[in-house]
Amino acid sequence: MADILEVEVGNAKAVSSPKTAEERFGQLPMPSLEYTEEVARETAPLYELVRHHIPEIEWPVHAPYVYAINKLKKQRNAVILAHNYQTPEIYHCVADIKGDSLQLAAEAGIVDEEIIIQCGVHFMAETSKLLNPEKTVLIPDSKAGCSLAESITGADIRLLREAHPGVPIITYVNTSAEVKAESDICCTSSNAVHVVESMGTDTVFLIPDEYLAQNIAKQTKVKILTWKGHCEVHERFTPEELLAYKAADPGLQIIGHPECPPEVVDVCDYSGSTAGMIEYARGQKPGARVMLVTECSMAANIEAEVKGVEFIKPCNLCPHMKRITLPKILDSLVYMREEVLVDPVLAKRAKRAVERMVNLKSN
Ligand code: SF4
Repeated sequence: MADILEVEVGNAKAVSSPKTAEERFGQLPMPSLEYTEEVARETAPLYELVRHHIPEIEWPVHAPYVYAINKLKKQRNAVILAHNYQTPEIYHCVADIKGDSLQLAAEAGIVDEEIIIQCGVHFMAETSKLLNPEKTVLIPDSKAGCSLAESITGADIRLLREAHPGVPIITYVNTSAEVKAESDICCTSSNAVHVVESMGTDTVFLIPDEYLAQNIAKQTKVKILTWKGHCEVHERFTPEELLAYKAADPGLQIIGHPECPPEVVDVCDYSGSTAGMIEYARGQKPGARVMLVTECSMAANIEAEVKGVEFIKPCNLCPHMKRITLPKILDSLVYMREEVLVDPVLAKRAKRAVERMVNLKSN
């Protein structure tokens, strides 16, 4: 469905306002949110996946939303994409596709459903729209931002290009469509080294995450220039707190996200993207204890999938990811909000940078 409609007015072309998603699809009645016997029976298998995190007494509050969302998403022909940092009741009970930014971007481009509900932050919903512009993309709370995405603008990148002509600009996928449009290629934490080395130059910009750039610089001979953006969740970890855990439990495996400061990554046994961290945890022997140095919900989410490993969680929550809740997802399905649109001209340029990254992955 086109986002902008061009209509002939006399000899001139005028651009009319597109219809909103609510106008195109219509509202549905709000379903009952009673905890009935049917709701309890139908949601019982899902409760087993989250029982370590949601007390039994609280389940009757969540279950009617889970039941209603799973019914309505079929009725709407919608698919729910959820990032690894979403809460367990979203991740395990209503999501159809789960993963890190790269996995969600790759899946968003090929889903068949007409509507994508993005349970994550705004730049992720924009990326889905770029990769699959014919789909209607909804985010349950459009205020779900990101400190990294907000640290840089398209104008900043144009200035960098002027000051450093010929140096390729690689932007982390945690950026707005406007920033992606000014970039040569995107990257995620899981493919950053590969992207840096694929540029064929001895110097690149890897922006806006200063810590990711510093951590990647240790793994390549390419000189990396960067920016002063930080993830407000990962920058809070310190080496002292991790070393204190290690001193108390020398067998503990510490695995950290590369958005953490380099001195934090230095004391980790492994560092990688959230998908990489999950794989590393899966490879541990039964009885192992693993500390996940990343957003708090991820340990809760993978605990149900990785059996026999004990997860220690030094808890830092992402306030932006936590804006997405079951009631807001239900509102999205009922009222068709909040739609994510990207200017088509900007989208074309931004899509090139994202697709260049996605295609690189399969080379
Ligand atoms: S965890 Fe950090 S990088 Fe991810 S959305 Fe939150 S602020 Fe942004």
